[in-house]
Amino acid sequence: MPSGPTSIERVSLAEFELIDRFFRGCGARRTDVRVGVGDDAAILDCPAGAELVAAVDTLVDGVHFPHGCAPASIGHRALAVNLSDLAAMGARPAWALLALTLPAADEAWLSEFAAGMAALARAHEVALVGGDTTSGPLCVTVQLLGYAPRSSALLRSGGRAGDALFVSGTPGDAGAGLDLEQGRLPAEGESAAYLRERFLYPAPRVALGECLRRYASACIDVSDGLLADAGKLARASGCGVEIAYEQVPVSPALVSTVGEERARRLALTAGDDYELCFSVQPAHVGRLLGELPPERWGYTRIGTLRVTPGADVVRDGAVMSFSHSGYDHFAGSA
Ligand code: ADP
Ligand code: MG
Repeated sequence: MPSGPTSIERVSLAEFELIDRFFRGCGARRTDVRVGVGDDAAILDCPAGAELVAAVDTLVDGVHFPHGCAPASIGHRALAVNLSDLAAMGARPAWALLALTLPAADEAWLSEFAAGMAALARAHEVALVGGDTTSGPLCVTVQLLGYAPRSSALLRSGGRAGDALFVSGTPGDAGAGLDLEQGRLPAEGESAAYLRERFLYPAPRVALGECLRRYASACIDVSDGLLADAGKLARASGCGVEIAYEQVPVSPALVSTVGEERARRLALTAGDDYELCFSVQPAHVGRLLGELPPERWGYTRIGTLRVTPGADVVRDGAVMSFSHSGYDHFAGSA
């Protein structure tokens, strides 16, 4: 019998230490975690009368974040994109699993990555309950589990023609932030720093999503661009959508960095916002505005679902035409 560990054991010991040091106890402590990190699988106690709501998203180095991106931001965003998906369902997030592929077990990198994820997890009372660790090109997959009272979750498909359409926050900021990060947009100062932060550390609208179960007919999170995602909601709801150009909210930081025209174009077409776009039946709009004051909750009415399929942006009575990267010309008038 050899006295020392075999190389396979040494590798798994290092892996065990890595998991133990950085990921055990990461995030919130929850009493509904019967078994968490350390066994072959987690055992979770879903509340009675609730349905499990599950989402998974992968971030690939150089594709979903710039190569060399701050590890804390990668940890934050990997969880944030999933929190945003659960927010769009009106679900309460609870448990996360992390599948991490690393080129090397770099302690400084892992420590910042775990801290970035843990801070956001704690803020939303999410416990990291398991995962997988492998070696290879950097790739981060988070699976997030949460719950909502039976049959109460929000869907993309619940909208009807005539419903009012809203968006939270100020879309476009994150898209400009990414352009700044990658040097495509040259700007410095407070506004530029704010926009970068909006890309690196998005704030998923979890509390708003949960409240919207009482008001919204349909909901989607804005990850691919407001116009595209509003179009997806409308399509799933069997209708179309018209967005009023002048109503699209833009942040002062975005306007001061790129100008008003480009700010609105980014707000409509840039991705990575992780805001919520939702529809509300006309009969419920008054209650929504009264009970969730828009100034406090940070959302804006931007348009209306309609019978005619498709997604249009209307400015001064004319339909604007957008290409994938932004609008290119005015296409006819109404
Ligand atoms: P197995 O080979 O049985 O899947 P692992 O060594 O992969 O075991 O994982 C051991 C424990 O550590 C499991 O509870 C697993 O869920 C957890 N785990 C592994 N990698 C991670 C990670 N990156 N983050 C959180 N938990 C992890
Ligand atoms: Mg196992």
